[in-house]
Amino acid sequence: MRKLPLKHVASRVFCTSILTIALLLSSASYASQEGIASFLAFSDESYIIKDARIFDGSGVPAKEGRSIWIDKGRIKKIASIDKLSLPDDIKVISAKGKTVIPGLIMMHEHLAYLSSPKSDIFDLHPNTIPTLLLASGITTARTAGSDLPQADISVKDSINAAKQPGPNLIITGPYFNGQRQFSSDLLVSNTEEAKLLVKFLAAKGVEWLKVYSSLPPEVVKVVIEEAHKHDLRVAGHLGPATSCAQAAEYGLDTLEHSIDSCWVKRTPEEMTRLVNVLIKNDVTVVTNAPWRRDSPNDLEAIAMYSPQYLDDFKEPTINKQSSENIISPRNKAAMQFDRQFYDAGGTLLMGADAIVYPQVPGFSNHNMMIALGMRFTPAEVLQMATSDAAEYLGIEKERGLVKVGYIADLVLVDGSPDKEIKDIKNISLVIKDGRAYDPKKLLDSAKGRLGID
Ligand SMILES: [Zn+2]
Repeated sequence: MRKLPLKHVASRVFCTSILTIALLLSSASYASQEGIASFLAFSDESYIIKDARIFDGSGVPAKEGRSIWIDKGRIKKIASIDKLSLPDDIKVISAKGKTVIPGLIMMHEHLAYLSSPKSDIFDLHPNTIPTLLLASGITTARTAGSDLPQADISVKDSINAAKQPGPNLIITGPYFNGQRQFSSDLLVSNTEEAKLLVKFLAAKGVEWLKVYSSLPPEVVKVVIEEAHKHDLRVAGHLGPATSCAQAAEYGLDTLEHSIDSCWVKRTPEEMTRLVNVLIKNDVTVVTNAPWRRDSPNDLEAIAMYSPQYLDDFKEPTINKQSSENIISPRNKAAMQFDRQFYDAGGTLLMGADAIVYPQVPGFSNHNMMIALGMRFTPAEVLQMATSDAAEYLGIEKERGLVKVGYIADLVLVDGSPDKEIKDIKNISLVIKDGRAYDPKKLLDSAKGRLGID
């Protein structure tokens, strides 16, 4: 696994220590977090998860019969229960038949959702989306573009202050584009304008920038250079204007949507050329498993929509994704590209990009993980979604593993998701920063709201 350039490490370490301070401050008033109290399974700050299988996220096989002592937001001890000398009155949660995995870390999420089938405007969902993400075991999420980055930052602040449930967020700015593709694209005319915008957004607290499909190469290059000067990183959803190879050579950090971002022929020769140029230039690929399927027949997921919003979709919608055969040559090539890039030593991470019907944030992430299971082992999928992502984001000393001393970001899953990836849908408890959330309470609060807020 490759390390970040030094300057990024420095800034990430800084961020991590801020997080630590925030955590220490917040643990003082641990039980009095009114905004999240109704979503918690219990409010104890010290408790035991007893007799669990643990898949620690590092890729080593799961261990059976371990108990985890969580105290003041961190993992204090891991051992068999008889080896822990516990206080008499400590809360004990049985994890018989369950697996504990690290909290999921997703790399391409949005806090906005398509406002209606006839519109190309995305409305901010400051409550529903973070709630759905957390309910599905996602404890850290990088957003991948926003029409209102300052609002996304406010949501992040609100989550960090425990005023509302949600994952730890890493915020990406607006969509830098050359021509209007969506109504709210930020059109950038030239390199001078790009420099001003990068400086402005960096000052406002955005951590990543997004370059979009019709931004010309000379502007992409300047955005990347300026972003790196300000310790920001750049995600690319590329298109015809700038090739993936060009962006890689300019220093692009993450390529979004895997090969779907690159306008190349999906022949073995072209794919090998692309894999090589990405790896040579240290580009991380974020896949959304473009062959995944989110179904309007998944009633549990569809229940999250507001009835009114669902009404708008009564007519069969033209959904390119669902009209395409899952094993079409195009999809087969995408599956193969992800595997080839990974096998060649590339860092492959994932995010669901759930922004239109019938993609429901959280549910969609699980479907994506299951789809990735067609080309990767369940353990590989889980590792990419936990410790690999933590390492890439520079938070690997505190998050992304089930390990003593780490922040307690954990998910309790019925079954063995490291063996059967579809078990990832069976989440019974989500622990973030040591706080134990009941996924059912989270889902119940989001039910009927997607499409409204
Ligand atoms: Zn996206």
